[in-house]
Amino acid sequence: MARYTDASCRLCRREGQKLFLKGERCYGTKCAIEKRNYAPGQHGQSRKKISDYGLQLREKQKAKRFYGLLETQFRNLFDKAAKKKGMTGENLLIMLETRLDNTVFRMGFASSRKEARQLVTHSHFLVNGKKVDIPSYEVKAGDVIKVKEKSTNSPKFKEIRDMAISVPSWLTVDVEKLEGRVIVLPKREDIDTQVAEHLIVELYSK
Ligand code: SF4
Repeated sequence: MARYTDASCRLCRREGQKLFLKGERCYGTKCAIEKRNYAPGQHGQSRKKISDYGLQLREKQKAKRFYGLLETQFRNLFDKAAKKKGMTGENLLIMLETRLDNTVFRMGFASSRKEARQLVTHSHFLVNGKKVDIPSYEVKAGDVIKVKEKSTNSPKFKEIRDMAISVPSWLTVDVEKLEGRVIVLPKREDIDTQVAEHLIVELYSK
C-alpha cells in the first residue's frame, strides 16, 4: 500500500501546529514546532496572504495528515461521509476517528497513529475475538479490541501495563487485560482534533 514517507515534522511545520506524528517526541522539547514554528523551506518565514481556497486546502491537508491518509483514501472517505445522514463534515471526522488504527492509538496501545497502523497490519489485535489487520476497519459501538494473546509478551505491550492511560469518553480500556471497548460512537464534541471540517466540505463541494 502506498504511504507518505517524507519527514513527519515538516508536515506539522507546514500546517503550523502539532499533528502528533512521532509519538513521545511530540510531547518533549525536541518537537520541531516548539523550536521552529514556521513553514519549512526558503520562504517559510515570509508572510503570505492566504486565499479562501488556500485556507480550505490547508484544512483538508491538515486533517489528512493528522490521520495519516493519502489523498485518494481521504476523498473516498469524504464521499462515503457525504452519503450518510447528517452533516458531512461531522460524519467525516467521526469516520476518521473510528478507524481501527486511530482507535488503537486513542486506547493508548500505540504512541502514534503511524505506530498503531503498523501494529494493526502486523496482526497484533483481535476485534470481537477475530483477527483484523485492516487499519481502515470501522469500529462500532460495543466492539472489543484486544491485543492478541501471542503478542502480550512483547516488550511493547508489557510496558503499556505500567502506564497510566487516559482515553476519550467514548472508549474504555483495561490495561491489565490489554483490552479496550468502544462504549458508544463519538460525537463531534468528543473529538479533540483541531480541524475546521466545514472548510473541507467547502473545498470538495466546488
Ligand atoms: Fe509534529 Fe511530533 Fe514532529 Fe512535533 S515532534 S513537529 S508534533 S511530528
